[in-house]
Amino acid sequence: MTVDASSQQLWRRLTDWPRNDPDVLAALEETFATGDWGRYHGEQCKAFVQELASYHSVEHVQLCASGTVAVELALHGLGIKPGDEVVIAGYDFPGNFRAVEAAGARPVLIDVRDGCWTFSAEMLRAAVASETKAVIVSHLHGDLAPILEIADECQRLGLKLVEDACQVTGAMIDGKRAGSFGDAGVLSFGGSKLLTSGRGGAVLTDQPDVAQRIRIRNDRGNEAFPLSELQAAVLRPQLRKLDELNRQRLSSVALLRKLLGEEGALRWAPTSSDQISSAYFKLGAFLEPQTVDREAWVAEAVRRGVPVGSGFRGFYRRSARRCRQVGELVNSRRASERTVLMHHPALLGTAEDLECVATILERLIVADD
Ligand SMILES: *Cc1c(COP(=O)(O)O)cnc(C)c1O
Repeated sequence: MTVDASSQQLWRRLTDWPRNDPDVLAALEETFATGDWGRYHGEQCKAFVQELASYHSVEHVQLCASGTVAVELALHGLGIKPGDEVVIAGYDFPGNFRAVEAAGARPVLIDVRDGCWTFSAEMLRAAVASETKAVIVSHLHGDLAPILEIADECQRLGLKLVEDACQVTGAMIDGKRAGSFGDAGVLSFGGSKLLTSGRGGAVLTDQPDVAQRIRIRNDRGNEAFPLSELQAAVLRPQLRKLDELNRQRLSSVALLRKLLGEEGALRWAPTSSDQISSAYFKLGAFLEPQTVDREAWVAEAVRRGVPVGSGFRGFYRRSARRCRQVGELVNSRRASERTVLMHHPALLGTAEDLECVATILERLIVADD
């Protein structure tokens, strides 16, 4: 996809990530001075583990090489075995489907709520069979799953819960951090995520036996999927600023929604209650009407300097050999076909830039008519 020459500057401002942070530079210099840059397993990782645990109010944190590995480790830690079933949404991060398969388990696909990217506790209840042992719930595109109800339902049904908070790190639900509601929570520090060290991830849990199983799994005589000292060092100052940047993203989302309205080409997921404050790795919307060609819309927005893209491809087309589908997954299919996403660095733009973005996106609709 190409950006017009006249739109390059806007594009560059709205895609500036990771940003130049003097505290990250200081951390890099410190690891250079101490020699930590050449190690893994040291003071930086130890401190980061404590800071993450305290931030999320959880007992145990296992750092690892990616969010994808973190999901696999979480499933292993919860005792998922070949032949078990694991419920996931029909629209989700592709790696989560594979993580279930990597555990030797079978994905069970359930639909997402209408106009959302997450499922409800009710939808989960209808999916459970005797082989069903666990659930992965991902908060996606700023849309937070009803995790309190889902956690209750899991308890009632005897299912283990993995809460994937890779896209909403720092979000608050009812006074608690996203990632702290399940039997295990998962974070990603991938190169585009809200906390970034190029790659990286973490598993959060309150349960010592789960933490212990994960540690043993990770240890192949040496740590098999480590996060390095250098990575931990650059993540620590970012964690200290996460709340402040998330607040800024949240108010940018409110501004964009106000400027673009609720009845335009972009349909937003329902706004959450006062008890909830989301975080935005991507701001998602459903593109309307169905006759608008999504790929053309995205290409045109990019050409004008607005960093948007399409959502996940979803799993509704996966063969029955690989998974069990519950119902027709109509909402998942619509999510796969109509989701457009704006990447979070754009949400750190100035009000002027965001007004410019809104104007550009509004005109795209006019052009389409
Ligand atoms: C990014 C992401 C992950 C993990 O990604 P990695 O790139 O492996 O760190 C998992 N789940 C969701 C929903 C994600 O967005």
